[in-house]
Amino acid sequence: MSALAPLLATSPAIPVVVALLGACLGSFLNVVAWRLPRQESIILPPSHCPHCGSRLRWFENVPLLGWLILRGRCAHCGAPISYRYPLVELLTSGLWVSALLAQPSAMGSQPQPWLLVVAGGLLLSWLLPLVLIDLDRLWLPEPLCRLGLLLGLVVTGVIGFEQGGEIGRELLFHHLVAAGVGLIGFETVSATAHKALGRPALGLGDAKLAALLGAWLGLTGLGITVILAVFAGAVLGSVGRLIGLLGRHQPFPFGPFLAAGGACVWLLGNDLWLAVLGLVW
Ligand SMILES: [Zn+2]
Repeated sequence: MSALAPLLATSPAIPVVVALLGACLGSFLNVVAWRLPRQESIILPPSHCPHCGSRLRWFENVPLLGWLILRGRCAHCGAPISYRYPLVELLTSGLWVSALLAQPSAMGSQPQPWLLVVAGGLLLSWLLPLVLIDLDRLWLPEPLCRLGLLLGLVVTGVIGFEQGGEIGRELLFHHLVAAGVGLIGFETVSATAHKALGRPALGLGDAKLAALLGAWLGLTGLGITVILAVFAGAVLGSVGRLIGLLGRHQPFPFGPFLAAGGACVWLLGNDLWLAVLGLVW
């Protein structure tokens, strides 16, 4: 059970505040996922309709409510606003609330609970735009992967050293190795599969995302993540091909599977997944 569970049971206002903050952040993540691939600034100009360019009024910018008030259409030109916007806001909100109860295994035996919440929220919020951009464009932007990796090492250092110098050094070293293994392991598999199949089998971005996840989850966490991602990717890819959503050799993004696997490992911890996968007995 998360160390915060007793506090949350007596203070229901905490999850509500976290949910609201998560929804606001989700609104920003929508902007990041839309503008980053278009090489636009993620700060300026303020939110506007991509069809007619008119700026949104303040109440139209309120997460979830704005979309509902507008009934999914721009107030000026009537162009539809994708349901993805409120969904991402809702998802970010839910992810931050779930970060309150997360039990990651990769951050030492006695991490400060509130540091873990912030770390979990940051990781999940970082993964979300990567997932959206990969779904849209089959592309995982390198700067986002690189910065996310660095952030993972910084967070690991902060949480580790807060528990003592030796734990901090150990965790940092372990996560650095995991990041390297993720990068080199994926690049090797990708190159080998490319040679064997005669066509690209994995995107280069997947190796960078694996490195990012290694920096946050350590070696065991990364290993479980990859197993979950490969399994889910194989099942959903096969279903997609069976029902005709995907062509025979049509590529599909693997990043969302890696990210979802990483999120599951962060939220539920290694032990549960090792037991589920039958790797402990
Ligand atoms: Zn418009």
